[in-house]
Amino acid sequence: MIYSLTKENIANFENTYVPPRLLLGPGPSNAHPDVLKALSLNPIGHLDDAYLELMSDVQKLLRYTWQCNNRVTIPVSGTGSAAMEASIANFIEEGEKILIAKKGYFGDRLVDMASRYKANISVIEKEWGQAFSLEEIKYEIEKFKPTIFAIVHAETSTGVLQPLEGIGEICRKNNCLFLVDAVTSLGAIKLLVDDWKIDLAYSCSQKGLSCPPGLSPFTMNNRAESKLLNRRSKVPNWYLDLSLLNKYWGSDRVYHHTAPVNMNYAIREGLRLIANEGLENIWFRHQKNAEKLWNGLIELGLELHVPKEYRLPTLTTVKIPPGVDGELFRNHLLKEFGIEIGNGLGSLSGKIWRVGLMGYNSCDENVDKLLNLFDTELKKFSIFRSATF
Ligand SMILES: *Cc1c(COP(=O)(O)O)cnc(C)c1O
Repeated sequence: MIYSLTKENIANFENTYVPPRLLLGPGPSNAHPDVLKALSLNPIGHLDDAYLELMSDVQKLLRYTWQCNNRVTIPVSGTGSAAMEASIANFIEEGEKILIAKKGYFGDRLVDMASRYKANISVIEKEWGQAFSLEEIKYEIEKFKPTIFAIVHAETSTGVLQPLEGIGEICRKNNCLFLVDAVTSLGAIKLLVDDWKIDLAYSCSQKGLSCPPGLSPFTMNNRAESKLLNRRSKVPNWYLDLSLLNKYWGSDRVYHHTAPVNMNYAIREGLRLIANEGLENIWFRHQKNAEKLWNGLIELGLELHVPKEYRLPTLTTVKIPPGVDGELFRNHLLKEFGIEIGNGLGSLSGKIWRVGLMGYNSCDENVDKLLNLFDTELKKFSIFRSATF
């Protein structure tokens, strides 16, 4: 038998309707209008000379954005978790010692992935809302002697910015690769891959880069490359095998999988906008807008979850005041004003909201809009009507 849809059914699908939204949560963030224009161009062949040229543009722009000279610098097909999995799948063999510094939800994901590739995992943990000190990291690396040390730069689940300077030196002294999750920092917060001796790092397109979700920038240096070359076994993941991917992105241009051509148009434009504005200006813009948000929220009587020295400019965690139903307020902002903010994950669920100011969305106007709404709307959700906020 053949399944069919009625004419009325089909008529219901006629127009793709997407409500207007301002995405001020943990991601995705709104895409820049110029990125959307690039995205809507017609696809061309992924081995077309014109496309190969575009690929090399993307790589050049990515190296600038990562602040590195790494030959292997590519956008992996898939969201941030794809490059995250590539980082684990390619560098872990059974029994490989990996030390993971876990201080939030995304550290957990690294642990889960590493366990699936049968790593010998050691975990150091911090409370959700804190960062590791260099001394703590040094102590654990010297004790466990891992071949890889992994840490999240910008922990989107807690709003913590982990300082990274100095870790690279410790890793080199201990013959260990330094792996960084830069999903919520690339293109928004100071990140110097070469200078900080980061051996491999991954990110995503939909947070700092003002693009839709779908690509995950990845980079690795010579130290990481030689580790990959010396693997005893095949990478147990065909799609994310970096040596195969590099045959397409490197000079060989060997077909591996069909590139998401349009997403590469999009990221090229997102990265061009970043280069045009200049990274240092971008870092400053994110910091300035975040500080304005922090000060405004504090003035309204709200409390922030993270101490100022570790506060992440791209994502602010705000304590839900006592007597307020966080989910009702969040839904109210979405339904009445088209603004999305995030809820707390894991142990922070029901305790905090997560407010993102990333890429294109980090602007004065969005901060004002949100502060005004916290001012006028939050009162309506308090069981203590006369509370200070
Ligand atoms: C969003 C995020 C990820 C996962 O990326 P996806 O694009 O959702 O797959 C990983 N790490 C951090 C820190 C993130 O914020």
